[in-house]
Parts: sequence; C-alpha cells; structure tokens
Amino acid sequence: MTQTDLIIVGAGPGGYRAAELAAKAGMKVVIFECGEVGGTCLNVGCIPTKTYVHSASFEEARERMPQVVAQLRSGVETILSHPNITLVREEACFIDAHTVNSFTAPHIIIATGSETKWLPINDIDDPRVVDSTGLLALDTLPRRLCIIGAGVIGMEFASVFNRFGSEVTVIEYLKECLPALDGDIAKRLRKTLEKRGITFKMKTAVQSLASIEADVILMATGRKPRLQPDFANAGFEYDERTGIKVDEHFETTVKGIYAIGDVNGLQMLAHAAEAQAKAVVEHLQSLPQKSEAGPVPAAIFTSPEAACVGPSEDQLKAEGRPYECRKAFHRANGKALAMNETEGMLKLLSEPNAGRIIGCHAFGAHSADLVQEVSVLMFMGATVSQLRQMVHIHPTLSEILLTAAES
Ligand code: FAD
Repeated sequence: MTQTDLIIVGAGPGGYRAAELAAKAGMKVVIFECGEVGGTCLNVGCIPTKTYVHSASFEEARERMPQVVAQLRSGVETILSHPNITLVREEACFIDAHTVNSFTAPHIIIATGSETKWLPINDIDDPRVVDSTGLLALDTLPRRLCIIGAGVIGMEFASVFNRFGSEVTVIEYLKECLPALDGDIAKRLRKTLEKRGITFKMKTAVQSLASIEADVILMATGRKPRLQPDFANAGFEYDERTGIKVDEHFETTVKGIYAIGDVNGLQMLAHAAEAQAKAVVEHLQSLPQKSEAGPVPAAIFTSPEAACVGPSEDQLKAEGRPYECRKAFHRANGKALAMNETEGMLKLLSEPNAGRIIGCHAFGAHSADLVQEVSVLMFMGATVSQLRQMVHIHPTLSEILLTAAES
C-alpha cells in the first residue's frame, strides 16, 4: 500500500482542477483516470459540441474537432505533470473508506462524472439509436435526424444539425423545451428554431422507436451520475437517481470522502464541477469561506443561444416570492440590428423597488455574455438602481441589460 495525501477518482474538469489546486497547495496527489484526461467535457461534451457550433459545415466540424480536443487534452496532461501529482491510468476501485486500488489517503475526492440515461423502452437496441457520444462519432451527416428530448443536449444538437442541413425532428414529453429556463424565453427560442426548419413534437411520449422515420435517433433524455458497485465498500450514501449525497462542503456521509461534479447530481455543468473542486481543496486546507459560493450561470449554445442565472419568473411565482421583472429585446438594440441578430429577449429579475438583482434569463445573440454580467452583479449584491448608474459601451449588446434595468 502506498500512502498519499489525497486520492482523486476521475480526471474530468472536477478531478483535474482539484488535483491542480491541491498540488499547488503542497499536497501529494494520486489521480486515477480510466479513459482520456479531460473527462466528458473535453473529450465528448462541451468542447466537441462547441467546435460543431462554431464550424461552418459538418465536414469542417469533423476535421477540426479532433485537433481542438487534442490541443486541450495536452494542456490537461501538462497540468497533471506537476511533481506533486501521480496520474494512474487505470480504473479506480474502493477497497475501503481510505483505500483505492493500491493507494491509501486520509482524503478522497470522487469525480467520476455522469453517463447517458437511456429511455426504458423495448427496442432501444435499434441500430439507428445513438447517444451524444455516438452522434459526435458519425462520419456522415444524417439526412433525417430525430432527437428524443428537448433538454440542453437535445436542443444544441438540433440547432447545429439543422444548420448543417439535416432534417431535424425533436420529440419531447413535456409541453415546453429546456425546463430550467424561463418558460416565456424557452417558448420564444423554440419558435425561433421552428422558423429555421426544426420540427418539434411536444407533449409526445415515445413508446417505441419502430414508428420513427429517421436515419439516426439521438437519445437525449438526460444524464445520470456515474456510480459503481465498489462505492459500497467506502460506506457513504448514494442513490441511483440523485447521485452521491453531499453536505455544503461536498463531503459525503463518510468523513474525508468528497464527491464533486456530475456524480453528486447538484449541477451537471463543467464550471460547477470546477467551482466545487476549488471549494473542497479550500476545505481540506481549513480555509473556511475563502471562495464564497456565487450564483452558477448556465448557457445553451443553440443558435441563437440562451442563458440563465438564478430562479426563473415561473419559479418565483410558484414560491410566492415578491419580485419585479424587467424586459428588453434584441430588436431594439443598435448593435443587434447591425449584426442582423434581432431575435432575442432578456428578463431581469429583482427584489421590489428596483432592489437586489436575483436573476436573469435570456435568449438571443451573446446571451451567455449578458447573463455572465448579471452573475457578477448578483455576486456583488448589486441592485437594479445601481445597474442603472453603470455606463455601458455603445454600441454593444450589453446595452440590452441597461435597457431592461431602465424600463
Ligand atoms: P467528467 O467530465 O464526466 O469526468 C469524469 C472522469 O472520470 C471521466 O474521464 C471518466 O473516465 C473518469 N472515471 C469514471 N470512473 C472512473 C474510475 N472508476 N476510475 C478512473 N476514472 C474514472 N457543461 C458545460 O458547462 N457547458 C457545456 O457546454 C456542456 N456541454 C455538454 C455537452 C454534452 C454533449 C455533454 C454530454 C455534456 C456537456 N456538459 C457541458 C456537461 C459537462 O461535460 C459535465 O458537467 C462535466 O464534464 C462534469 O465534470 P466531472 O469532472 O464531474 O466529470
């Protein structure tokens, strides 16, 4: 048995970021990775999909994707070559609460990520069915693509394959797409994509795949935490659906064992995994409250894109919380008109009387950047009255935010 300070399972954004920070803080780290370093995000998630979003054609995307991934992967390999880090390229297995394979440590971070949730139907072995990883591996553009699920992954692929020239149909069980997004914004985004040629079949439950007329069927019905049977040897609590149970420090029910990123099921986003890695390493060094948890914004890279931070108007209504909602539209913004990007709307949510900003939901060009600004304002505790005093460059899309604040 080899003793070390910290064992990390998984080298995705959660795991490699934790390794980097812990090593810099002087800890001896052993990190296990049974696939490629960079995890889902770098190899088959955020980065490959965004390379598709920013390529003019399917052929260009196929050519560029491996290059972009390889470049970033070598960056992660450099991070993991720190003298305090040992990268073990094998599958990690818990022997007991402090032992993983042949290593033992007082602290362990689990960052094993998530996997595709397949629809429980009989003909799921239909050869036309792929998950997001399978779709990214296709060599030829499907003429007809059917996407089951209008969540983030389904909507992003629908948008990009429609642009590449596939005939795209999206089937969704719920009445609206993107349930985390404000209902109003989600509906307008869906209508915009409809105008671009995507067919949506809402409130439709898929019972069998045989009746679907498509060359490829993408299963985009969500992801589930990647759990493994040997977790039982460590003794912490977890649930197939919700993942590993953690407290506010991301510590599991067994002291010294932490779970970060997709595997704890809190927020399946790469930047959330990284923020949790930072919080855990600070906790290990007994640096309480150093990085105060800020709001976690999220974006959907359709064309046009959508983004959100904080609760939606629907949620605030359901909770009976008093709020004010201010709106602004891309079509009234000079830069958006100049860019010919007039489809878009932003909702700014605050406490009453132009008080503290509590959220922002938007769709339209560069929504992610607009929402990022709101996220910073929320972290600083800014009010709508203060936002009105902040000078914004003209002409920019950020003036949409100012327009909303002033309305
Ligand atoms: P992962 O990145 O999944 O890494 C886990 C790693 O652990 C893997 O490399 C795996 O091989 C390894 N592992 C698992 N078990 C073991 C074991 N027993 N031993 C050794 N190694 C093990 N998020 C965003 O924020 N923005 C986006 O634009 C975005 N786009 C996405 C697009 C798609 C198609 C998908 C599928 C996801 C996307 N995500 C996006 C989500 C993002 O990829 C995840 O939230 C993020 O990767 C989670 O990081 P993680 O470190 O928790 O796990």
